Amino acid sequence: MRPALRRTGPARTGQAALRDAARYDLRRAAISPGPADVTGGAARGALVIRGGHVLTMDRELGDMPGADVHVDGARIVAVGPDLQVPGARLLDARGMIVAPGLVDTHWHMWNTLLRSMSATSAPGPGYFRVSIDLGREFGPGDIYQGTRLACAEAINSGITTVHDWCHNVRGQAHAEAGLRALAESGLRGRFSYGYSAGHANDQPMDVAGLTRLHRDWDSGGGLLALGMAWRGPGGSNPVMRVPPAVYRQEIEAARALGIPVTVHACGPPSSAGQIAALAQAGLLGPDLQVIHANCATPAEIAQLAEAGASVSVSPFTEILIGYGLPQTAEFLAAGIPTGLSVDTTVLSGNADMFAIMKVTQGIANGRAHDEFAMTARQALELATLAGARSLGMMDDIGSLTPGKRADLILVETGSPNLGVFTDPAHMLVTAAQPGNVDTVLVDGRILKQGGTLTSLDPAEISREACSSLAGVRSRAAQA
Ligand SMILES: [Zn+2]
Repeated sequence: MRPALRRTGPARTGQAALRDAARYDLRRAAISPGPADVTGGAARGALVIRGGHVLTMDRELGDMPGADVHVDGARIVAVGPDLQVPGARLLDARGMIVAPGLVDTHWHMWNTLLRSMSATSAPGPGYFRVSIDLGREFGPGDIYQGTRLACAEAINSGITTVHDWCHNVRGQAHAEAGLRALAESGLRGRFSYGYSAGHANDQPMDVAGLTRLHRDWDSGGGLLALGMAWRGPGGSNPVMRVPPAVYRQEIEAARALGIPVTVHACGPPSSAGQIAALAQAGLLGPDLQVIHANCATPAEIAQLAEAGASVSVSPFTEILIGYGLPQTAEFLAAGIPTGLSVDTTVLSGNADMFAIMKVTQGIANGRAHDEFAMTARQALELATLAGARSLGMMDDIGSLTPGKRADLILVETGSPNLGVFTDPAHMLVTAAQPGNVDTVLVDGRILKQGGTLTSLDPAEISREACSSLAGVRSRAAQA
């Protein structure tokens, strides 16, 4: 289910967009994504990305040194050497690695406004306390600013698909403000509509609001899909236990709408049993994404595999919050569709998917006491094709396969942290940084070129985010 693209004018940014976000009119369908907004409606024509080292991540096509990628409109038409396309615009990719856009599978984008604010020393409030206490003070405009900052960081970092796990829906306007930021950015993504920060355990989330959003969602041509961000039984924390009658009613509503559901199963190994409880209640299924699952026992991993559920691993936040090490290799060995995720920059600080790939590989090898347990290529696959599979989007994205959508990145290799050309997959996973991302295409539209964002203005975004955060902090201090 995707929202339609109905706006025709140029992008509205800054205060004007903020005002729009606050009085969002769904019927007007301004959640329409944005690339037409972003580019002022410019049509996408034929484009040839010339002479790059192309990592297709398509197992049949493999790698193609010195090859071209032909994009027409939103789609990849051909990949190969010396493609001749009369009249096509040329993009010089010599010396660059051309790869599929990176796929995030779980990110609380709204709280990017609270970047690096979890406690740095004990006793401190910690991640949950910070995000709940400040999250209560978020208005729709703050959701918009946090999400927009996250979008800018995503594009800058080469992330072309996001799964926005919005667990601060304090009203319809909050959800719409988050969607609007996503839509204006030109990113591809799923917006998972959730509950609110500090939501009472015994109160159901606003299922009626989700149903309205779903009803007004238009399936034609957009980049955004809708899902439900579900509390489930409430995780490992005893003060967050949600009664069965409440969480059942919520997931049944999502399933009646036919939209995917995502839930955290979190905590250290001592928190095992959460997935078994879902299995016992008959709630696991291929439409359910389970986040973290650090606590999963071998039996629970088998239950996830049996049910066809997917898993999202966010290594940096899992280790920083003390859940323990990810079980990525175990999920892959069980055949579970698995993707990587940012989770929250309140904890992780940034959304660097290159670093996420590297730490994923490192932890897998460290746990296995084996330098070759996970290869760089496998880590790169987790952030591209496998991530797309875990979101059910593999037919459209995740590899540079003719016919798929043109979501791709060009990574320059001349900067001092690269500087030579060795194994390109290994370079992307262990050496590259967001600053090396020269060009980003989503759905055939250029969102970053020559190292500069084309659809968003980082200076304006930072200015408005600072102002928004100051307001949130001041209201929290008075609460
Ligand atoms: Zn999370």
